[in-house]
Order: sequence, then structure tokens, then C-alpha cells
Amino acid sequence: MRLSEYFLPVLRENPQEAQIVSHRLMLRAGMVRQSSAGIYSWLPLGTRVLLRIAQVVREEMDAAGCQEVLMPTIQPAELWRQSGRYDGYGKEMLRFRDRHDREMLYGPTNEEQITEIFRDSVKSYRDLPKNLYHIQWKFRDEVRPRFGVMRGREFLMKDGYSFDWDYVGAKKSYDNMFLAYLKTFARLGLVAIPMRADTGQIGGDLSHEFQILAETGESEVFYDLAFDSLRAAPHPDMVAELQSIYAATEEKHDPASCPVAPERLRRARGIEIGHIFYFGTKYSAALGAIVTGPDGEQRPVESGSYGIGVSRLVGAIIEASHDANGIIWPDSVAPFKVGLINLKAGDAACDRACGEMEAALTRAAVSVLHDDRDERAGAKFATMDLIGLPWQVIIGPKAAQAGRVELKHRKTGERQELSPEAALQRLAG
Ligand code: ATP
Ligand code: MG
Repeated sequence: MRLSEYFLPVLRENPQEAQIVSHRLMLRAGMVRQSSAGIYSWLPLGTRVLLRIAQVVREEMDAAGCQEVLMPTIQPAELWRQSGRYDGYGKEMLRFRDRHDREMLYGPTNEEQITEIFRDSVKSYRDLPKNLYHIQWKFRDEVRPRFGVMRGREFLMKDGYSFDWDYVGAKKSYDNMFLAYLKTFARLGLVAIPMRADTGQIGGDLSHEFQILAETGESEVFYDLAFDSLRAAPHPDMVAELQSIYAATEEKHDPASCPVAPERLRRARGIEIGHIFYFGTKYSAALGAIVTGPDGEQRPVESGSYGIGVSRLVGAIIEASHDANGIIWPDSVAPFKVGLINLKAGDAACDRACGEMEAALTRAAVSVLHDDRDERAGAKFATMDLIGLPWQVIIGPKAAQAGRVELKHRKTGERQELSPEAALQRLAG
């Protein structure tokens, strides 16, 4: 992709309305634009990141045995009356009527919807377990939308739902998701701490929030300092271990009954990027999702729900990975892997070397954004640093003559001069 043709409306100045760094950088890097409070349009660069995050989430859910579906954003009020949540949800729910005067709502979550789908098709324990998820827009009319996409009103969520015959199966499904979440967040370059959490509107009694630590986080969190040194790659044995180490959000934390000695207890701020709940038969009983067991016994199915804030993650990743010059994308979600900078557009040798480099990277299936604009070098460096692509290939007239390129690693700032072939080899690896 050539930057001269790309829609990348970067801002030179810090936007007044943004209070936290991720919001500032997303606006400055031309990733999103606000439509109304808490509602955003995603521009090309932001869309690429959002879709890449969704894809990592999808791959990890599929690897954990979940199946993707796609449920609507608009739901009938009637369904929520059956679960008893229609009135309780209050002003956060956006409600309206269709032309036939039927009450509708824009879904803030999908427990009712998935339970209805399940109820109408599954009758026997033999069809269990099942775990279905979708990646879909949600609407919650938050009192105070803020921090850009971190607390939006319209936001993209992965929400999944498990169905099991009994508690033993349901806990297994819960632990399976617990592990899948650790893997997902690790792939996104994040260290997420699973914390005992309040079950709020969803209901139920077993629940973990996955929080990343950040000064700008909205939650106050408390955890055993053992979490500070846990950096191993996620594996199944970790589930029980992590569930046994104390960590809790402020709603759940009770200083009077906290089992952690004061000198081991860390207090910090966190961003909630995922939340898992076991809620048993709360929705299946209300909506009549009944299955028949091995000896003819009929019971409401055992369920849990599992959310990941896909659009919030875009901001959360930036909070966790940036410097004074801009964003630093982890490879797994970077909108392009390489930013190619032509230091002197119009110079024949430079143009040729850059054209060849772009073509070679494209052939090697390495995504590249080629800054071919006629701009000052300083402005080009600043834009590339701002948008945070993991690698920069810089080609000026002298280097082009000598058949050399400069390779810069955005994260470490390390620079190296080498041949185009050697650079390609590094980038395609
Ligand atoms: P919060 O406590 O932050 O309001 P929640 O507990 O109400 O979130 P859940 O119902 O657990 O949210 O939703 C699952 C995930 O969706 C959350 O872990 C979070 O990452 C994301 N999410 C929730 N609300 C928002 C929002 N207003 N904007 C962006 N992402 C959100
Ligand atoms: Mg939550």
C-alpha cells in the first residue's frame, strides 16, 4: 500500500478531548473518528488492527473447541422479559419500537438470544457439551462514555456461551475458556491477571475478570505479588494454580477477609479486557432450555458466558505498548508489518530501490505501507513512529546508490544498515 493513496488522516496536534494516551494516539494516528459520544467510525488503519485482534480471538476460540455463529444486534424485548432482565437492565439498554409498535432493543449482550437458539434445537445430553461464540457489536448506553474506544457506547465484543449437562462439565468448560483467554491475551502481547470478580447483571457465582495493569485503568485491583513474576507461556496446569492465587477487583476485595499478608498485597489500577462467568441454570431455567439426561431425567442446561472486549483491546494494547513518539504494535496485531520510507521521493535511485523493496515484500506476503510522498524526512519519520509499525525500512539517495537499506526496529529503536536481500530475509522470517 502506498501512503500517497492511503486514507491516513494523522493529526499533528494533541486533540483536546482525549484524556488518556491511547485515545490521543488513536485520533492522532488516524485510526478512528468520533461520531457521537462513545460511538466511533473506524478508519482504514484502525479497522486493520480491530480485524486482526478479532482474528486472533477467533483462532484461539476455534482452537479451544468453540464454534462461531453470528447473532443479530437487534433483539425483541419479549425475550428479555422471559429472563426477567428487561426491567432490571435499566437505562444502559437502548430500547425502541419497530413500525408495528413491537418493542425492540440493541443487544448489550446475548445470553437470552443464544439460550433461545439452543433451547429450540438441543434436547439431549448426547448433544453436549457445546460452546458457541460470536464477534458482534454491542450497545450499552453508558452514563459516562470516555477514553475513546475503551468505554464506548457501541463496541465490538466477542461473547461466547457454553452448555453442559452438569456442574462438572460446566466447570471444565469454564476452565477451558480460562486457559483460552490466557493464550489469547499472551498472543496479543499482554500480561492479563485473572481476578475474582463480581457477576453484576449477568448473575452467577463463579467469575473472573482478566485485567491488564495500567495507571489509566478504571478498576482498582488487589493481587498477590506472585502475579508479578508469573510470565510462563500458558499451559493447562496453570489454570488451577492461577485460580488459587489471590487477585480481586475492588467490588470483590474485602480487606477484612483478604488471605494475603499486607506486605504481599499489591494495589494497582487495571483495564478489564475479558470477563468469564459460570451462571449455571439462570437463563436455561427461565427460558426453558431443558435437556434429557442418560436415565431420562430432565434438567435445565448448565451454562457460562465469556466476553472479550475486542474494540477496547485496541486501546488497551496501546496503553501497554507505546512511547513518547507513538504506538508500538505487537507483531500479532500490527496493521502493517513494515513501514517503507522513501527519504527522497522523485530521486530516481530512491524511487527504484523503494519500488523494488515494496514489490519484494509483497511477493513474500509481508504487509507493507510505503511512504512514497514528497515530504520532509522528519515528517516521514514522525508519522511512521506515530503509527507504530514494528519495522521500518529507510532508503535515502546515498544508500540507494550503494545498494543498501536501513532497517529500524520500532520497539528497540535499533538500526542496522544492510543489503535489501538481507533486510528481506529478516522481515520475511
Ligand atoms: P465494565 O465493568 O468495564 O463496565 P462489564 O463488566 O460491564 O464492563 P462485561 O459484560 O463483562 O462488561 O463485557 C465483557 C467485556 O466487554 C468486558 O470485559 C470489556 O472488555 C468489554 N466492554 C464492556 N463494556 C464496554 C464498553 N462500554 N466499551 C468497550 N468495551 C466494553
Ligand atoms: Mg465485566
